[in-house]
Amino acid sequence: MAQTAATPEIAEIPTVPLTDLGPWAVFFALLAVVVLFFVGADQNAATHEWVHDARHLLGYPCH
Ligand SMILES: [Zn+2]
Repeated sequence: MAQTAATPEIAEIPTVPLTDLGPWAVFFALLAVVVLFFVGADQNAATHEWVHDARHLLGYPCH
């Protein structure tokens, strides 16, 4: 006997193998390094103003 309408279907959670996450982990790690460079090291005036609050948030010496 088929119970279709009475029992709610529980959505199946897809499993993602760790090996599929590797390239994304590398990508986001590089992205974080680039962001940290612009926030912490780059002293270009426009970039400095743009990330000024982030500098203070992360405790970089500023002014
Ligand atoms: Zn500042």
